[in-house]
Amino acid sequence: MEKKVLLEVNNLKKYFFLSKKETLKAVDGVTFKVFKGETFGIVGESGCGKSTAGRTIMGLYDQTDGDVVFDGKNVHSLNKKEKFTLHQKIQMIFQDPYASLNPRSTVREIISEPMEVHGILPNKQERLERVYQLLEDVGLNRDHANRYPHEFSGGQRQRIGIARALALNPEFIIADEPISALDVSVQAQVVNLLKKLQREKGLTYLFIAHDLSMVKQISDRIGVMYLGNLVELTSSNQLYTNPLHPYTKALLSAIPIPDPDVEDQRERIILEGDLPSPINPPSGCVFRTRCPAAMDVCAEIKPEWQEIDKDHFVACHLYKKD
Ligand code: SF4
Repeated sequence: MEKKVLLEVNNLKKYFFLSKKETLKAVDGVTFKVFKGETFGIVGESGCGKSTAGRTIMGLYDQTDGDVVFDGKNVHSLNKKEKFTLHQKIQMIFQDPYASLNPRSTVREIISEPMEVHGILPNKQERLERVYQLLEDVGLNRDHANRYPHEFSGGQRQRIGIARALALNPEFIIADEPISALDVSVQAQVVNLLKKLQREKGLTYLFIAHDLSMVKQISDRIGVMYLGNLVELTSSNQLYTNPLHPYTKALLSAIPIPDPDVEDQRERIILEGDLPSPINPPSGCVFRTRCPAAMDVCAEIKPEWQEIDKDHFVACHLYKKD
């Protein structure tokens, strides 16, 4: 059966004009699709533009160029009323649950607020019942409703953030580093919760993270971002078994393997230097200053984004489509 495209991002650019001479190219021409019911992961080092991409897709930032089409509608050409309706369908979960929850509001108020703003369940008792249900959906209970965010652990606070994101019954959730601030032992629990909710509610996720091993656990397909550009995109399995881009290979080589024999023998690719500034990115291929395979052409020509194999996209001069 043909998969339904829920989100289409075409050549999306988001620049911040800092001064007459300086432009920060946070997202510089990103193209991908997200199918209904899947988890699409975006992975990359901090500063690669993945969070800015998420916020621009959500419509929190105006785009500099390109399109974001959600369920057939161009997000950046909607009027105020249409945007308001769109925000019922697309919700965000943030990295730092503590910073994103009002410390002076109870959990009940925090989860009720989006429903009040959008006029959903105007009856107070029905709204309260929905808060209780959402708390149970995320593994908390109704006794938690009258407490304040500081009374919870980091993992529990992220569960409250997830309950709030679900309050409007969204179709699509942009999870921006939702587990990065949590202890490792709690990260897997939150990932499992997100998977369970996806199964139960038919959700589609855009899961943004810097940790490739965690992204693999939840994502059906993964896009790898470097300095505002997507450099590789394919299924989660394909990315791990047959990575093509030198940057993806370096990221994968940094993930420890639990088998000590395999771990001892494998080659680790250490990237030289820091991530260059997106204000003054390298010419040609943006990865060339750290790429162990860089050639002369890499400084001159930006590699094309091409589908090298079925559903396997890469931007690198090492690969040419037949
Ligand atoms: Fe490396 Fe050149 Fe490929 Fe860029 S285009 S990743 S510099 S080989």
